[in-house]
Amino acid sequence: MAGIKKNDSVLVLAGKDKGKKGKVLRVDGKRDKAIVEGVNLIKKHMRPTRENPKGGILSMETPIQISNLMLVCSRCGKKTKIGYKKLTDGTKKRICKKCQKIL
Ligand SMILES: [Zn+2]
Repeated sequence: MAGIKKNDSVLVLAGKDKGKKGKVLRVDGKRDKAIVEGVNLIKKHMRPTRENPKGGILSMETPIQISNLMLVCSRCGKKTKIGYKKLTDGTKKRICKKCQKIL
């Protein structure tokens, strides 16, 4: 879905994390992917280093297709589609299609 921005709350619609909600940490518009907090985690085994003498397992997010995400409106809390509204001064704003509020 287009229009998702950093710090948006999103719901995962497909994949192993289907049904999870998270905050968008980064959007890669060129590849239509986003990094969402706590979603699409991979576990990386870390070798012990001087800074981290025990080593261990590190979880990190990997990008997910934006088309597999749906925006959760920060105003009404419902999952929604993004609409656009042109203001009288000509600027375009994102709106929630459920509550019509500007996001
Ligand atoms: Zn809304």
